[in-house]
Amino acid sequence: MITENVEKLLKEVPEKNPFGERVTVVAAVKTQEVPAINEAIAAGIREIGDNHVQEFRDKYAAIEGAPRRHFIGHLQTNKIKYLLGKCDLYQSCDRLELAEDLSKKSAAAGVVSNVLLQINAGNEETKGGFSFEEIIGAYEKIKLLPALKIEGIMAMLPFTDDDKLLRSLALKTRAAYDELRAKDGNFRYLSMGMSGDWKLCVECGSNMIRVGTTIFGPRVYPNAK
Ligand SMILES: *Cc1c(COP(=O)(O)O)cnc(C)c1O
Repeated sequence: MITENVEKLLKEVPEKNPFGERVTVVAAVKTQEVPAINEAIAAGIREIGDNHVQEFRDKYAAIEGAPRRHFIGHLQTNKIKYLLGKCDLYQSCDRLELAEDLSKKSAAAGVVSNVLLQINAGNEETKGGFSFEEIIGAYEKIKLLPALKIEGIMAMLPFTDDDKLLRSLALKTRAAYDELRAKDGNFRYLSMGMSGDWKLCVECGSNMIRVGTTIFGPRVYPNAK
């Protein structure tokens, strides 16, 4: 089933968004077992994203096909050490403290870490990230950190069926992305859209989508087994 799901998804995702940018598909692999992830990679997935450091570590060596590895979940600073040099893109840079610590530890390890700044587009209390009001100021501070390379923005949108609201937040996120991209030639990713809303997000200018359920089916969480 996973192979079919990946093939169908990759056919459905347009090669380019309305801005003429290539759309990158990242498989969100939280709770998935290694064989399932390897099947998705064999079917054409090239980038995978984990939410939990423990899962990232446990599965790291057993994953085949050399995908690019992303981290897409809340990252505690005391766990940065497990990802250093192994994570190709930290999508969820959601607070200044994390950026500062990631830069410090990256410098000490002799690496530069690629990050996206996370926007909490719906201003939801349950989600991390910078507000639209904070994002430019956060960028200005994080840009000064020596061992980070900011490559764009990752947006968390609210879970809602209200397409009008989603569209307006997605367009607002694209506008913030464009404002920063105009100042910074390293900007190349706007990561926005999950299984339920990626089409809308790509129409609004996303060029990176993070898809779990559409590839792997509904998640089974360990405590619900
Ligand atoms: C789980 C997750 C996704 C994928 O969600 P689906 O609805 O299963 O596609 C995308 N982004 C983040 C940050 C996630 O945690």
